[in-house]
Amino acid sequence: SIVTRFAPSPTGFLHIGGARTALFSYLYARRRGGRFLLRIEDTDRERSTQSAVDAIFEGMAWLGLKSDFEIVYQTQRFDRYREVIAQMLEAGTAYHCYASKEELDALRAQQQANREKPRYDGRWRPEPGKTLPAPPDGVKPVVRFRNPVDGDVVIDDLIKGRITVANRELDDLIIARADGTPTYNFCVVVDDLDMGISHVIRGDDHVNNTPRQMNIFRALGAEPPAYAHVSMILGGDGAKLSKRHGALGVMEYRAMGFLPEAMLNYLVRLGWSHGDQELFTREEMERYFDFDHVSSAPARFDMEKAYWVNHQYLKTADLAVVEPEFDWHLRRMNLDPAAGPALSEVILAQRERCRTLLEMAEKSAFLYSEIESYNEKDASKHLTIAAADILKALIERLGALPVWDAEAIHGAVHGVAEMHGVGLGKVAQPIRVAVAGMAVSPPIDETLRLLGRDRTIMRLGAALN
Ligand code: GLU
Repeated sequence: SIVTRFAPSPTGFLHIGGARTALFSYLYARRRGGRFLLRIEDTDRERSTQSAVDAIFEGMAWLGLKSDFEIVYQTQRFDRYREVIAQMLEAGTAYHCYASKEELDALRAQQQANREKPRYDGRWRPEPGKTLPAPPDGVKPVVRFRNPVDGDVVIDDLIKGRITVANRELDDLIIARADGTPTYNFCVVVDDLDMGISHVIRGDDHVNNTPRQMNIFRALGAEPPAYAHVSMILGGDGAKLSKRHGALGVMEYRAMGFLPEAMLNYLVRLGWSHGDQELFTREEMERYFDFDHVSSAPARFDMEKAYWVNHQYLKTADLAVVEPEFDWHLRRMNLDPAAGPALSEVILAQRERCRTLLEMAEKSAFLYSEIESYNEKDASKHLTIAAADILKALIERLGALPVWDAEAIHGAVHGVAEMHGVGLGKVAQPIRVAVAGMAVSPPIDETLRLLGRDRTIMRLGAALN
């Protein structure tokens, strides 16, 4: 059965690259009725923090990428790692190495002088017929993996194709330090084995670890999982993705006004394609995702496209999906979503003209709070002396309307325009500045309907002063 995992090191927020790796892993398992697991690689105690763990959970939760099983923490598994190390020592697939730091430094210096690749020379590696020196007194040994010396390790990478590495290129990896703590590459293997991982999907910065990890799997009597190494994400200019290309943390995209579904859609297309389809429902992503169409070339981050995808979602997504996010943005701006019209109505009125929820919240703030000031340029252009007469006439007409609906408001606004012999813009723009503080808003009848009669009349009156 298919089991994938996402294994972040909690040293910061959930970034774009990590989120995409998590998404690929999640989708690959989903499509095949498999399971997707989360493992926190927190053995580097100096760099791992609880707040980073929380930030990763927050990002995963926002994107709706849920682990199908209890979350695994490496720091809770030290007993198990020790147990496996003992087994390997027993089986002869690992051995104690007493070489001191000075000895190894000397070895490395000599290799460098000979222009050789620095590698451990196997001086404590047991071989048939070889006599090992007596262990020096008082030295705590490290444990090394007894890497095979013959043959090749072959990775049939699902994205990169076949990668062949000769075993003689790999030296005997330290799997436990002198103080007994297990090392990274070893822990990953024990975890992937115990978690029953069938497919390891991770960034290609790990591809050099894979041959060693595969050898350890085999030493433990197991077949290694399949591997898919995902290439990195570059900025639009081809340089390594960095802050100046746009936000890096997933939650920053929330703050910028992205919908989680749009974010997933944007992320899945970073490196994966399905014909020339750009927009996918979550079900479609789950159905179509495959490594056959994941590119081995680095993906390019394109902020404009991210905005475009988000706008497509905003325009068509179920209101039930958009509302909670819109609510979140209003509250973030210290606005009370209950102090104005129903969110669903505002979303419907605004979503054509807003690419993000942040923009929507900013352009709708006037519906949930008093306006503090007018946009200066808009005010001097539209709140003119001539406009004052128009606004006065409007106050009267709007005040007298028997019902407050778009049709009635439309009639009143047009009536005033006709009465003053001016085009609709000459009426609508002063109204906008008066009620919204700026000369942009949804259609004027809809704007006033949403704002309500009392607020409308009060703000028109205030604009006269
Ligand atoms: N913890 C590693 C990282 O955050 C991932 C290791 C793996 O997926 O095997 O880059």
